[in-house]
Amino acid sequence: MLKIDISQIRGNLGEFQDFSLLFDRARIDLEHDWTQGIFRLDGTITNVGVAYQLRGKISFKTQQSCSRCLEPIDADSSIDISAETSDVDDEIEEDLYNITEIVREAIVCGEPLKPLCKEDCSGLCPSCGINCNISTCACETEQLDFRLERLRDYLKN
Ligand SMILES: [Zn+2]
Ligand SMILES: [Zn+2]
Repeated sequence: MLKIDISQIRGNLGEFQDFSLLFDRARIDLEHDWTQGIFRLDGTITNVGVAYQLRGKISFKTQQSCSRCLEPIDADSSIDISAETSDVDDEIEEDLYNITEIVREAIVCGEPLKPLCKEDCSGLCPSCGINCNISTCACETEQLDFRLERLRDYLKN
């Protein structure tokens, strides 16, 4: 669980507090394994009267496979979060603001569905499976010749 003590800003309109948290996957019940290591959350909670406004940024490392060439990608990632809660909401108990759910959801939703090792990744050759970023294979030229032949035939008719 991730809980923040907001006793300092409770009942004080306009008050805010900065916080910084380090936590791991288990702490927020995160089952996805595309992240690795420790998460860092830097944020601010402001008492805006009707609610507490949370703004923050989660920074962490990711470990995914390129969706085209399947090579592992290690990267740094960050996700902005923003939420609002009030004294009548379940997130607030005693003087503690439970932000576990907000943080977990932001990380789950932030997972890139088609990660790429680089913008112009050439992927794998569909015939021989070779990684076209690293080397070229014969199939490619054959396919190209084949296409050219079809084009020539087409132009002849
Ligand atoms: Zn790739
Ligand atoms: Zn090939």
